[in-house]
Amino acid sequence: MSLHENAIYTIQKAAKTALIPRSFIDILLQPNHIHKRRLNVQMDSGKLESFLAFRVQHNNLAGPYKGGLRFSVDSDLDEVSALATWMTIKTAVIDLPLGGAKGAVVVDAKQCSEQELEQITRNYVREFYEVIGPKTDIPAPDMYTNSRIMGWAADEYIKISKKPEAGAFTGKPIKLGGIEGREIATSYGAMSVLDEHLKTSERLNVNSQLSCIIQGAGNAGANAAKLAADMGIMVVGISDSKGGVYDPRGFDVDKLISCKLTHGSIRHCVEKHLSVEGLDLEHVQILTNQQLLAMPCDILILSALEDQVTKENAEDVKAQVILEIANGPVTPEAEAILDKKDIQVLPDILVNAGGVCVSYFEWLQNSSDQDWSRQEVLEKLDKRIRKAYKDIQSLKNDYNCTYRTAAYIKALKRLNLIWENNNPS
Ligand code: NAD
Repeated sequence: MSLHENAIYTIQKAAKTALIPRSFIDILLQPNHIHKRRLNVQMDSGKLESFLAFRVQHNNLAGPYKGGLRFSVDSDLDEVSALATWMTIKTAVIDLPLGGAKGAVVVDAKQCSEQELEQITRNYVREFYEVIGPKTDIPAPDMYTNSRIMGWAADEYIKISKKPEAGAFTGKPIKLGGIEGREIATSYGAMSVLDEHLKTSERLNVNSQLSCIIQGAGNAGANAAKLAADMGIMVVGISDSKGGVYDPRGFDVDKLISCKLTHGSIRHCVEKHLSVEGLDLEHVQILTNQQLLAMPCDILILSALEDQVTKENAEDVKAQVILEIANGPVTPEAEAILDKKDIQVLPDILVNAGGVCVSYFEWLQNSSDQDWSRQEVLEKLDKRIRKAYKDIQSLKNDYNCTYRTAAYIKALKRLNLIWENNNPS
């Protein structure tokens, strides 16, 4: 099943469970617009290169299109369409007045200089200028794009529009209209979901020492590891693209992450820098990423890539709860196996919605000239995410379904209501 087929399958399953009208679902499954362009960029060598670029505007029933812009050599229309569809569902799950979109440039960002990345970004804005904007479609950072890139994009947009419209992009640097707390928003929201879940979990006892494994110690995963440690959850395993490490006695997360930032990879820290910088790594097991997913723990946090728990390895998972920070890390086939094993999967469209939630706050700030402190931002985020979790928990009980199906039902009911109000029969 491709990623887009996965998104469609999950929507249809939830619609069937909650008897959402088929006629509405047929409309929702079609993206409103698929924009495809070629970006012709002068590289540092003087050579002109051409990059394929997309913007899929999936749905704007609830408000302007919203979704990331990624630079990835693996991106294609199927992936971007799936991610745009998930954005429509995600914004609806947390009741934002926004729709769903996604953009991509098919480029290996790691091979580009700063100057080349800036040219690609500015070129993207020029090519898609007519279809984006603060009231129509608001891109944000995603894979291999960041606040610096959003700063260039917002600057290019303002140059063309000749109006001071900072809200055309979110995830900008603070001095260009960005918001406090954006860098931690996704992980913070994820941990609010986990904390709320633990309050009512029948499988996990909050009063005992809980443990977690984190796949993907990047921006979201590293922050999630630190927040888990702050919550008193022992981090017993962690990985990045070079491999994983496991120690049932738990890691000092701050030291391990700072070692990774200095020396490149977690595995390298363990293999080459044993007991440097106060790390006690003598009893640590070095594992492949696949092996790490099968190690004992209470909570498995997936914050790397899609399609990580599949029908091939789902049986091996020992965690009681899976927290999906990445988009689509558990395939539908794997989820059926996990469900039989009574392993709870807390779904991506809720768990990683903190990023788009704080993007929404940034957009609001830009359009109303308000200025919120980091604490205010994180409090507002926490409140919105916990409310969404409680709504989903109650739908899960009503329909006797998984958290994922319940989250989709919440989103689909909201979107269907807006549709019916806009189209009275
Ligand atoms: P990132 O690029 O900063 O981090 C990804 C990490 O995963 C890196 O450390 C990389 O080494 C590691 N990795 C890659 N392949 C791996 C593998 N096979 N096994 C283990 N680790 C592997 O990206 P990020 O911003 O932290 O995002 C992570 C995931 O969360 C992505 O799927 C992204 O779409 C999703 N997400 C992120 C945000 C956000 O705000 N950062 C918001 C929503 C969703």
